[in-house]
Amino acid sequence: MSNDIVAALQDIVGERHVLSGDAVAEIGFPWNTHSGCAARAIVKPASTEEVAAIMRCCNLAGQTVVPFGGMTNLVQGCATAADDIVLSLARMNRVEDVDRPAATMTAQAGVTLHAAQEAAAAADLFFPLDIGARASCQLGGLAANNAGGNKVIRYGMTRDTVLGLEAVLADGTVISSMNRYIKNNSGFDLKHLFIGSEGVLGIITRLVFRLRATARSHNVALLACGSFDDVIAMLEIANRTLPTTISAFEVMWDSFYDRAVQPRGRLAPPLEPGAGLYVLIETMGVDQEHDTTAFEALLEDLMNQDLCVDGMLAKSDRERELIWEIRDEVEPVIGGAHNFDVSLRSADVGEYVSKVEAAITALFPEASVIGFGHLGDNNVHISVADVVWDDKKIRQVEEQVYGCLAPFDGAISAEHGIGLEKRAYLPISRSQAEIELMKSLKRMLDPKNILNPGKVVDAASQ
Ligand SMILES: Cc1cc2nc3c(=O)[nH]c(=O)nc-3n(C[C@H](O)[C@H](O)[C@H](O)COP(=O)(O)OP(=O)(O)OC[C@H]3O[C@@H](n4cnc5c(N)ncnc54)[C@H](O)[C@@H]3O)c2cc1C
Repeated sequence: MSNDIVAALQDIVGERHVLSGDAVAEIGFPWNTHSGCAARAIVKPASTEEVAAIMRCCNLAGQTVVPFGGMTNLVQGCATAADDIVLSLARMNRVEDVDRPAATMTAQAGVTLHAAQEAAAAADLFFPLDIGARASCQLGGLAANNAGGNKVIRYGMTRDTVLGLEAVLADGTVISSMNRYIKNNSGFDLKHLFIGSEGVLGIITRLVFRLRATARSHNVALLACGSFDDVIAMLEIANRTLPTTISAFEVMWDSFYDRAVQPRGRLAPPLEPGAGLYVLIETMGVDQEHDTTAFEALLEDLMNQDLCVDGMLAKSDRERELIWEIRDEVEPVIGGAHNFDVSLRSADVGEYVSKVEAAITALFPEASVIGFGHLGDNNVHISVADVVWDDKKIRQVEEQVYGCLAPFDGAISAEHGIGLEKRAYLPISRSQAEIELMKSLKRMLDPKNILNPGKVVDAASQ
């Protein structure tokens, strides 16, 4: 079958758009999130029709298919086996339309997030999603993961931003649900089946996004705090005083800041390391003068209440970028580490991180437990670094991170998804009935279990 299927795929997309042999092994993951790629071939369609033809062909042959977007996923969602076919959306990279009056963007799934942000900006509109992997990750991958990111506190997750989408099912059926309206209650909202389904229910080929007005004011500050209770008090005050303009509230423990800034890290430190915790607060609004006055008043209030020990208000676009660069500097943190992404009540995050750190360092004294994340939307990332990993140690660390989470009724994935990595732990966050329904949907839409098999749920098991 192997040669037949590769030849059939070449007939659909053209020989030069099918990679095989050494060319597959040479494919690199931009953030080294997976150990490598093994596959029978990588096929790169240019249109929905080609994706549909590929899926018809693979379904007939019972051939497994793993969709690849920008390959930045952090939960082994793009893991492959040697006999898989990888379907890469990289050539479907066209922004089809930006409708200014309607504030919508229609685009193919392989457009990178950065290109979508630029296309929106060129029409004086704002693309409301943003994550550190913006240069590589794609719109289809963001939707497949229901990614969150840096502006969720203001604009919501990807699910809140997608108005419509088109997806190709395992048997090649095209489901075009390219709604462009904010309101459309005409039957089931089928896009939600595919958003967050991590490529197991269909291949997302095109999307319609809701754009927002470009901000006319932008304020960013970096604050240093001595205790997590102070951070929570700051979050509450910021949410209460600037409810319409707050767009990010990010937290970094010392352990993160230390790896990001000099002398250990790469970036110049705007505030001295060693404070304990660092908070990035951002607002976006409509009037720079008015919003800066309100922002400065907030910072003064936080200082007067002794909630922060030091602070820097960015005075220029460059300074705003510099502060964001620190928060986006995840490479020295996540590289070589085992990375977690959980949700729980923001007020419980400090206690939870302390418990995880104590539990892990009791097992592995050499471990560094690094905390950071989107605290404004209940989300903390924990990276466990400086451990020489083997499967047993990974399992032990996972058991501590998720074991400590259970009493807080937390979610094992805030935004990165389940992939292969977290599948065994899904029952912590989802009931058996929910998992069975997920499996039933998977079996109904993909009876031969060819689409990204084994990710999220094991549909082959009863
Ligand atoms: C530096 C860095 C920062 C990050 N920051 C954040 C963050 O702030 N918030 C956040 O939520 N995530 C974050 N992530 C992880 C995040 O999940 C991904 O970056 C992004 O959502 C994945 O997009 P991608 O195009 O790279 O998809 P991929 O990694 O290629 O794929 C993701 C999953 O979706 C499937 N898939 C891909 N494309 C399609 C498609 N068109 N149709 C169907 N299935 C598809 C894949 O099989 C895989 O299971 C970060 C990752 C990195 C490396």
